[in-house]
Order: sequence, then structure tokens, then C-alpha cells
Amino acid sequence: MEKLLELENLHVSFQTYGGEVKAVRGVSLSLDKGESLAIVGESGSGKSVTSKAVMRLLPNKIGSIKEGAIRFQGKDLAKASEREMEKIRGAEISMIFQDPMTSLNPTMTIGKQIMEGLRKHQNMSKSEAKERSINLLKLVGIPNPELRVDEYPHQFSGGMRQRVVIAIALACNPKVLIADEPTTALDVTIQAQILDLMRDLQDKTGTAIILITHDLGVVANLAQRVAVMYGGMIVETGTVDEIFYKPKHPYTWGLLASMPKLNADSKELLAIPGTPPDLMNPPKGCPFAARCPYAMEVCLEHMPEATNVSSSHKAACWLLDERAPKVEPPEAAVVGGAR
Ligand code: SF4
Repeated sequence: MEKLLELENLHVSFQTYGGEVKAVRGVSLSLDKGESLAIVGESGSGKSVTSKAVMRLLPNKIGSIKEGAIRFQGKDLAKASEREMEKIRGAEISMIFQDPMTSLNPTMTIGKQIMEGLRKHQNMSKSEAKERSINLLKLVGIPNPELRVDEYPHQFSGGMRQRVVIAIALACNPKVLIADEPTTALDVTIQAQILDLMRDLQDKTGTAIILITHDLGVVANLAQRVAVMYGGMIVETGTVDEIFYKPKHPYTWGLLASMPKLNADSKELLAIPGTPPDLMNPPKGCPFAARCPYAMEVCLEHMPEATNVSSSHKAACWLLDERAPKVEPPEAAVVGGAR
């Protein structure tokens, strides 16, 4: 598979009054052409910061890439100028956010908002851009696109607005679409429709997707591969099947246990006790140690290295060391009874 995007040892920090917050600490990831990768973790895990770093949309002055590379088609975006990024954002890499209302301009018709990118990046005439906008609205399932193209965002429901946002993001045929919690603000039925739409669009357009979410349920619907983030680091990566059926990291077990299960006899829904680490003073050992029921002495002192579980599956946990006691995932974290 051809690598489209590669993050290597990425470190991102925020300067705050209290000191430096090390939000992303040594993330390495890759995305193949046409692939969909989910980055999963609780809020504060660094998943959104990682995606914003790729787009170079970190808050001005306080956020910065401290170290590492973001390679996209041979270019290191970590070192790209703002002018170079303007050509890439929206045209080569697009992003959609959680709340469609904040991503749309309430004073502009949706047609104009779709046309903006087309005119800027693809030099289309007004009439060509309008025609393409109508086709894009059709593609994302907006009924009567010829009429609706001239309407304003407030005339659309939440789900329809998110479809419009997706149409804008796909307007210039980007190679990568970053979707940051794209369905969190929507109700469950609409959520499923938007995920179906994204999967369908990926099949049609071949756009690679990075899905940022706190919800493993969303991942099962869309992603092929999963990276689990905690404390600014990737603690486990694998195919969807490996993460759901053979998870190795206690934090992944916690995330799986906190997923509602359709076939569960018990109503058990487990939250992970405790809070994420203080990234102003990150722990010297495993970032999950303070919340991990299996933590050993070594976990507090030394950072676990990522261990290969298979050629596509890695986890950073001392339990994978051959000297560690054998521990099975808790029942609530086992999907479909497999271990
Ligand atoms: Fe738990 Fe230790 Fe594994 Fe960290 S390294 S997840 S503390 S067992």
C-alpha cells in the first residue's frame, strides 16, 4: 500500500500561564492511500491536537510542533510555510468538525460556501462551481439540491448541515479527510446515516479518512485500522478486528468495557475510574499507571516500549513483557466472547 501521510515522533506543546503542556508526545502513525484510520481516546488524550497539527491549525502563539515530522506526499508539513499550507488545506487535506453549525457561515448560502473552495483551489468559473456544488449536494444525499443550494444553513436540520459540511470538505477531491468527532453532536439515527454516508463516499471517491473519536462504536462502522491514544501517546494500534477482538492494552479494555453492548444481559456499562495524567508534569512511566488495575512497579518507573503483537498490531504495555504475569481482559471488555 502506498503511504499517503506519515507522522514520525510528533511532539506538540501548548504554552500556558502554568507552564508547558505536552499534549502530544512522540506520536508515529501512517495512513495509506484510500484507508480509514480511527484515532480513539478520551478528551485530553491528544487525538484532536494530533489532527490539528497535521492541518497546522494549532492555536496561534500558544500551540507549536516541538519535534517530529508530518510527511504528506514527500513534503514535511511540520516545516511548511503558511502559504504552502493554504494550498494544501481544503484542497489536499480537508477537515470536518463536530458541530456543523460552527463550521458553516450563517450569513452565506450553502452554495456559495461550497463554491468558495472550488473557485479558490480549482479555478472554476461561477457556473462550473455552482454545477459542481449541486452535484456534491446530490452526492451527500441532500434532496432537491438545485433549490437547496441557494438556502442558508439555518434552513437545514443538524444532520443535513453535517452533510453540507462533508460536501464542502470533499469539494476539491482531497486525498485525506480528517473527521473530528463528526457525529457527536447528532442523534443516534442521524449518526448512523452520516457514518453510512462517509463509508459510501470513501468507496466512491477513494479519499483516505482519519476519524477522531472518543466512541469505539463509531469506529466499528467506518475504520479499517485503529490507533488508541492516551496521555498524548499511542498506546495500541491494530486492525479493527485486532482492537475489538484481541485488545492487549488495559486502557483499550477500559474503552471497550465502557461501550454499550446490544446483546448484553447485564446493563453493565463501566467508566474508567480516575482522570487522565497532568500533561504539564507527565508521569515518567506508563501514562495509564495511575488508573490501571494491573499496574506493577516497573510501570511507574519506566515507559513501556511498543511491542509487536502481530505485523499489524502493537501495544505499549509491560504486561506484554515475557516476565509479566498473564492477565486476561475483563469480561466486559470482550467483544463477541473472543479473547
Ligand atoms: Fe497498566 Fe503497566 Fe500496562 Fe501501563 S504498562 S497499562 S500501568 S500494566
